[in-house]
Amino acid sequence: MSSTDPTLQQPPTRRSCGAMDVHRRLLTTSEAYRAARSELENLTIELESSLVLDAREIARIPVVVHVVSSSPEDEVSDEQIRTQIDVLNQDFRAANPDVADVPDAFRDLVADTRVEFYLATTDPAGQPTTGITRRMTTVRSFSTDDAVKFTDSGGADAWPAERYLNIWVCTLRDGLLGYAQFPGGEAATDGVVITYTGFGTTGTARAPFNLGRTATHEVGHWLNLFHIWGDDGTGCHGSDEVDDTPNQAGPNTGVPTFPKRSCGNGANGDLFMDYMDYTDDAAMVMFTTGQATRMAVCLDTVRRGLWTGTAGPDGVPQPTVEPAVPAPRGEAVTMGTPTVVASGERIDVFVVGPDSALHHKWFDGQAWHPSQTGWESLGTPDGAVPAQVPGKQVAAQEAPAQEVAGQPAVTAPALQAHP
Ligand SMILES: [Zn+2]
Repeated sequence: MSSTDPTLQQPPTRRSCGAMDVHRRLLTTSEAYRAARSELENLTIELESSLVLDAREIARIPVVVHVVSSSPEDEVSDEQIRTQIDVLNQDFRAANPDVADVPDAFRDLVADTRVEFYLATTDPAGQPTTGITRRMTTVRSFSTDDAVKFTDSGGADAWPAERYLNIWVCTLRDGLLGYAQFPGGEAATDGVVITYTGFGTTGTARAPFNLGRTATHEVGHWLNLFHIWGDDGTGCHGSDEVDDTPNQAGPNTGVPTFPKRSCGNGANGDLFMDYMDYTDDAAMVMFTTGQATRMAVCLDTVRRGLWTGTAGPDGVPQPTVEPAVPAPRGEAVTMGTPTVVASGERIDVFVVGPDSALHHKWFDGQAWHPSQTGWESLGTPDGAVPAQVPGKQVAAQEAPAQEVAGQPAVTAPALQAHP
């Protein structure tokens, strides 16, 4: 096969992402998706105001890359895959050298999202793996219809989406660079798809999309980010549901010059250097704090099993920690608004329980104390030992209270109050 084979797609010259097409299709066809999206948006509004980004461990996410190729020309190498993982790790930690290109006016918005990625070292059956699967297919090109995600339709089946970020690399047609499925969809199609000319920084990657930013953008969607202009065409009424990104008319493309204004958004104009705009790879260099917080809610809720290891072991040991706070459905929400004090590895959480007593738990960098779900009681405000919570089993009834020198007895009441 020669490089002039007419069935091969020309590398895109302008960014085009299919995530919103998939989003609209699923909203139209899937009641379950509509319900899951609604629930996650409500959770996000509820939690992002109180979420403390720095209180969470770095979320390290195992990745499987499915290479689906129809010729040697669209097959990416292991080395090319590693360059992509490196870019993801730089971009999501704000460790990319070109973050220095952010204009001074926007510098305070730059966020370290505290997310990292690594090629999976254990496959779904528990066997060692490179985190890379390869399949030769007779299908020359794919679209947003998800055929690439199923072996039966010429692609490769997903690994369990609650344990792995699935990335498919294939030939996408119609100028599409990539697409993602937002959280809330079917596990079998969960993940992101990137065309082979927009993946990694070497090998088959082609300018102006050869710096790995298509994957950064698509993983942003996978962690619940919308396009920065709000996906309303070129109007000024759409929102990306993030407070610190300026209102923006439509997508910016190519490499814009600062400032680029729209929608009366002031002297500084659009945040076109954000990963969720439509610029060339060289022009997109940052996420904002608001975007990082929105992603953190997603990571603390629907994507939690991916990095805590609670959905199953995978390679690198993952500490099992509680979400920053408050927990989405657990003790914190039912017990009132927690106060979090984080310092280095140490996290202290204080909350007033339904028994009016103050309760405390802490994370020392290794584990939660007194236990994953337990709390120690610091007593009611007048110093009295709190009454037993009505309807709850108190752990102290089974285990004797522990005397700690200089402190009141710790009773570790079972206050989890899960429904
Ligand atoms: Zn997109």
